[in-house]
Amino acid sequence: MFLDNHFDTSRRVFGSAKPKSIRADPFARCLTARKVSIDEPVPRLFSACAAARTRVLPAFGRAARELQIQNHRFDVALNNLTQGVCFFDGTQRLILANRRYAEIYNLSAESVDPGTTLTEIVDLRFASGAFPEMSRDEYLAWRDSIAVSAEPNDTIVELKNGRVISIHHRPMPDHGWVATHEDITERREAEARLAYIARHDALTGLPNRMLLPERMVQESEHGTRGDSLAVLCLDLDHFKNVNDTCGHPVGDALLCAAAYRLRAAVRDEDTVVRLGGNEFAIVQIGAEQPRQAIALADRLIEALGRPFQLGVHQVTVGTSVDIALDTRRGADPETLLKSADMALYRAKADGRGTYRFFEPIMNAEVQARHAPETDLRRAAANNEFELFFQLILDTQTYALNGLEALVRWRHQERGLVPPMEFIPLAEEIGLIVPLGDWIVQEACRQAASWPRATPVAVNLSPAQFENPRLVATIRGALKASGLAAERLKLEITESMLLQDTPATLRILDQLQSLGLSISLDDFGTGYSSIGYLRSFPFDTIKIDRSFIRDLGVKPDALAIIHTIVDLGRALGMSVFAEGVETTEQLATLQGERCSEVQGYLFSQPLPAAEVAALIAHLDARSRVAA
Ligand code: C2E
Ligand code: CA
Ligand code: CA
Repeated sequence: MFLDNHFDTSRRVFGSAKPKSIRADPFARCLTARKVSIDEPVPRLFSACAAARTRVLPAFGRAARELQIQNHRFDVALNNLTQGVCFFDGTQRLILANRRYAEIYNLSAESVDPGTTLTEIVDLRFASGAFPEMSRDEYLAWRDSIAVSAEPNDTIVELKNGRVISIHHRPMPDHGWVATHEDITERREAEARLAYIARHDALTGLPNRMLLPERMVQESEHGTRGDSLAVLCLDLDHFKNVNDTCGHPVGDALLCAAAYRLRAAVRDEDTVVRLGGNEFAIVQIGAEQPRQAIALADRLIEALGRPFQLGVHQVTVGTSVDIALDTRRGADPETLLKSADMALYRAKADGRGTYRFFEPIMNAEVQARHAPETDLRRAAANNEFELFFQLILDTQTYALNGLEALVRWRHQERGLVPPMEFIPLAEEIGLIVPLGDWIVQEACRQAASWPRATPVAVNLSPAQFENPRLVATIRGALKASGLAAERLKLEITESMLLQDTPATLRILDQLQSLGLSISLDDFGTGYSSIGYLRSFPFDTIKIDRSFIRDLGVKPDALAIIHTIVDLGRALGMSVFAEGVETTEQLATLQGERCSEVQGYLFSQPLPAAEVAALIAHLDARSRVAA
């Protein structure tokens, strides 16, 4: 069509439409060169045209080939679009459609030939099942209304065959339109999955805290006016014990089993939600209150009071329930949930296995209960932590073998707070991960500044092993400080190996392959201390302080230390004694050929600023001794 225009000389010469630019049109250029005006007599014009054709034809041949190439490229581009594209003219006939358009609606390539009417295409789509939930006539009327309105229109249409199509309709000046059709079924499904995951707890499959207010709003909108709504909150008593003694997998199984019992105890209309950790909530709708909330609380207490059989473990937990009622159906969901949360603390304080209604006075108590947490979060924000360092010495020569980093909190009012008073809370509220990262970075930075290449030991908390970035953080701390990996020792406690999962061991492996060493701290306090030694090739075993303290007091202490030293030697691990306070204890440990010692007998943990001077002093002393 485009090519025809160029050869249609009559239209060019006699028609009213002149080419836009003479320069751009080779045929017109030729006429101009021969000084022929369009006002010339017709025969002269014809002969001029004939001459022009002879000269111009080769040029057109080239242009035609170029156009062919362009057309081919256009075709390739159009047919490889992931969106379906169609152009309709003002009479609702197809000008062109690409391959994808036909695919989306299960049409054959021929059925979308130029000239096909919209009605014909719609009929074919109804025959192939690719049409929305409406009749053919309704659909045509809807398309007509869009075409007539001459306004852009964006719609998402769900087809009967399950596909979801996003249509962008753009009008053209001749009352036709161009539309793109995109199959967004997979994207929609991925979005729906994500939304589901965001609103559900991965472990138990229950809705999570995010969904709770939504459910409550939904229920209050659909529920009959006058129906009351109750929120019951509960948590599992002794859950932490189960986790600590039987391990996380058993703790997880307990949560799933509890979720199952809770679901079985409520009616279909009620919603069970996992609030987090071992806390659950139930939204009870349309019940006669407070009678039915109390009845449900009793059922929940009974359901969770029965023993749970989890593999080889039988555990008994129990619960206390607190209830917040909204008999007027007007309370905002967050307030109601907070009320129920607060009642939980009171129910616990009143003794386990009870229920309790929310009273406003509890608000102040809850605030007070949360004060330490707020305080610790503030400390983290202001970086109120410092590292102290304690000497590690060779038992026989007293040579300095390293320093252990021990964290302190410099509190504005309380002074220096020891780690046992804030590490457990930091673990509970998830602060241990950023705090632990800071500790390892700071310990590496400090050690790199010491006057000689003394090793530094850093304690890791079990919770840090749940952070997938742990290895990367430690590698980063070494790199940033320039500390050689051989100078870093990581100390882990036996409790961490309770989660003796392949994942924990894999992380330990990765850490060891960085070139650093790993010590097993507080050895002898766990349930299966000797068993743990077989699970991983530790570099050092640190005998727990309690055994050193008992030396000379309890007869078995010496036998235990003797056995641990033998065991370490057999396994190629060095043995370390912590908490050495007396010369008698030191003499015994020297006799037992324990490798390293630490304790108040040599020094208390020292502020970082004193370490460099101490190392220099020790070096000077050993030079004098030599
Ligand atoms: P730990 O790793 O067993 O550290 C040794 C603890 O024993 C230190 O207490 C140290 O001050 C104390 N100690 C050393 N020598 C003696 C002695 O002769 N007699 C007595 N009675 N005690 C001695 P500290 O600094 O209060 O730390 C307590 C625990 O807190 C540590 O036990 C460790 O489990 C944890 N902790 C300390 N710093 C960190 C840290 O940076 N990260 C983590 N995750 N935990 C830390
Ligand atoms: Ca330690
Ligand atoms: Ca220890």
